Amino acid sequence: MNVEQLFVENGALLKGHFLLSSGLHSDRYLQCALVLAQPGAAEKLGKAIAEKSSVKPDLVLSPAMGGLMIGHEVARALGVRHYFTERAEGSMVLRRGFSLKPGEKVIVVEDVVTTGKSTKEVFEVIKAAGATVAAAASIVDRSEGKSNLGVPYAALWAVSVPAWKPEDCPLCKTGVPAVKPGSRTEKK
Ligand code: ZN
Repeated sequence: MNVEQLFVENGALLKGHFLLSSGLHSDRYLQCALVLAQPGAAEKLGKAIAEKSSVKPDLVLSPAMGGLMIGHEVARALGVRHYFTERAEGSMVLRRGFSLKPGEKVIVVEDVVTTGKSTKEVFEVIKAAGATVAAAASIVDRSEGKSNLGVPYAALWAVSVPAWKPEDCPLCKTGVPAVKPGSRTEKK
């Protein structure tokens, strides 16, 4: 499966001049939600991640919101259950009656891994319950090898997305204004 092509076909790989929420500028923007909006595509991606996974876990755990759909599809392919963590007062927690048993093997699945920060926060939830972080996986790996998760990690598509400070941005020098991706709908 060509993951990049799947993104392009679903309008999920935007090219232009973007102002990111970090304040940095980029010439590309990935919107995984637009690919996962297609149930058939989400199912294929989940299956591909499950096939790449080196371990058979007891369950899949994902951070909301980004990890919800893909985590569910990976769990479907592996024939295990899917739980998710969410943020409450700043920290990552299990709610809604979800609980982990000591010794359970957990694979953490996300849409995109960039710094690995949220992935590691999910690891802490697993460890606090006495369960085991067996592996991690994502559709897109934007870490450029820098995430260093400390467990086996599989991704379907490793992509380098440039991020420049406004003063270093080559697109700003061309005079094209930077736009916030998706801002048209957010401004409603
Ligand atoms: Zn710029």
